Amino acid sequence: MALKLCFNEATCMKRSTLEKDLMLCEKYGYDLIEIRLDMLGDYLKRHTIDDLREFFRRSRLKPWAFNSIEDINFCTEKQWQKVVELLRFGCEMSEKIGNPYLVVVPTAGDGMISKTEEEVFEDSVDVLNRLADLAKPYGVKLAFEPIGGPRWCVRSLEQCWKIMKRVDREEVGIALDAFNLYLFDRLNDIDILDFIPSEKIFVYHIDDCEDRPLEILDQCHRLFPGDGVIPLRRITEKLKAKHYKGAASVELFRPEYWERDPEQIIRISAGKARPYL
Ligand code: ZN
Repeated sequence: MALKLCFNEATCMKRSTLEKDLMLCEKYGYDLIEIRLDMLGDYLKRHTIDDLREFFRRSRLKPWAFNSIEDINFCTEKQWQKVVELLRFGCEMSEKIGNPYLVVVPTAGDGMISKTEEEVFEDSVDVLNRLADLAKPYGVKLAFEPIGGPRWCVRSLEQCWKIMKRVDREEVGIALDAFNLYLFDRLNDIDILDFIPSEKIFVYHIDDCEDRPLEILDQCHRLFPGDGVIPLRRITEKLKAKHYKGAASVELFRPEYWERDPEQIIRISAGKARPYL
């Protein structure tokens, strides 16, 4: 196995808790977990961060990335304060439990449609550098996740890679999400992945989706790996060819799965993802 089996807490977030996800991921043999910051906040109402550190100390399961800090581009002063506050919280908690990565997401909104690629490039380089400066003392790295829908300002792998090349620092890399890239143009541009060194890919979100027109396709149409139309085999082969050995993380935002028993979903996710590792 080259890739490591990882669970992203979004997958069961409506009926589970961090305690439950930890227990079930350990039970079903996951290597890694991506913890949601809101679910961590909820956990901290009942436990301390030392409890969490203790869990990881005696478990096979390890933390990989916190998800996520959203809308980091084109912030007002007030919005930026909120981004920084959440980043500080994520970094402080990361340091305590040995969590290496934090996922950061470009801004979404109707206002983004009129931004030029040049404006988005300049802003992304600026905000990623500022956030990385804040995160560096904690030893935390930032994984920037392009999202292909028209309302997001960084949509494609090519656009993201240009930003990475300019930022050019080891604390900043890419969160490669199969579904979010598929949303851009059905992964017709996936060969760009061949030019990206494996050390720039901080996490791989392995998720599939229904066969629907791109204008309709949305987060709720995600499916277990292998159940949909995304060429996951091709992506995985490309990652293996460049010796990527990080997380392959099942991240599904499917309301139907949210209604089901978390244990069932976590067990099935492991079984569906394993053939790609
Ligand atoms: Zn993702």
